Amino acid sequence: MPMNRVQFQPGLSMPEFFNRYATEAQCEASLQATRWPHGFACPRCGGAARTSFVRGGLRYWECAACGHQCSLISGTIFEASKLPLTRWFLAMQLLTQSKNNVSALELMRQLGVCYRTAWLVKHKIMESMRVREEHRELDGRVEIDDAYLGGELSGGTAGRGSENKVPFVAAVQTTAAGHPVFTCLRQQRHTSEEVAVFAAQHIAASASVVSDGLWCFRAIAIVGAEHERVVTGGGKACTELPQFKAINTLLGNLKTAIGGTYHAFNFAKYAHRYLAEAQYRFNRRFNLRSILARLLHAACLSTPNPARVIRVAEVGR
Ligand SMILES: [Zn+2]
Repeated sequence: MPMNRVQFQPGLSMPEFFNRYATEAQCEASLQATRWPHGFACPRCGGAARTSFVRGGLRYWECAACGHQCSLISGTIFEASKLPLTRWFLAMQLLTQSKNNVSALELMRQLGVCYRTAWLVKHKIMESMRVREEHRELDGRVEIDDAYLGGELSGGTAGRGSENKVPFVAAVQTTAAGHPVFTCLRQQRHTSEEVAVFAAQHIAASASVVSDGLWCFRAIAIVGAEHERVVTGGGKACTELPQFKAINTLLGNLKTAIGGTYHAFNFAKYAHRYLAEAQYRFNRRFNLRSILARLLHAACLSTPNPARVIRVAEVGR
């Protein structure tokens, strides 16, 4: 698909967004319809019969069968948040519709909240994107490569094995003609063991994979996929090979987007989440109009993570 189909498609414009989600009542109605499309279902027992009451300005439902009480936001990423839903929705709109990434600092300004709140909102949304993408499997023609995030400003030497860089593996499923379809980005070391885990989780047995000659990619064989290793001399020549056009374009864009937006984030600690955000957005880039509704769905399915969990360093795998 030509790039202009992505760049010129109509998204969800700000006037449209404010028509739909300007008030707390509108956001609540939208969240309720997303969470319980067929009417209330008790999160504990699935029962439909319930009574409802208001406590502290928040509506609660009490299941008639098991007595479980829940609010609209309990059990979602909005749980325990004092931020109005209108701000959460605006954050989701900004994070999905802007061409470039939106940093926590920019979110702070756009939402009119403190940095700590903006940071948490962004990371909770990114975490629900990560959960939504963690079982992504690539099939058909797949280009795979080893890459790094960060390090450019901290004196690390260029290329493999340098310090201050977070290694990750990037793979792109393409059409037979080489046009990118889906991507999978995972923070991990470039070892045979970790590539084997990546392949087992994200590469279908029927895929046909092409990589450079890096030794660890031999481990792709574990899933039984077809694998072509293109051994090159490295340098500029190998970045221009047509076999790697999709992956090189994606990595170039990723580097620009992440480098241009996040100058100082803690790469080592949160890179897995920034990669997941990039993956989520890339894999939904053909339908910008529906991405907010889909993200809301993901937000309802995600387990609520308190701030202390969000701040814990973890590698998504
Ligand atoms: Zn119940």
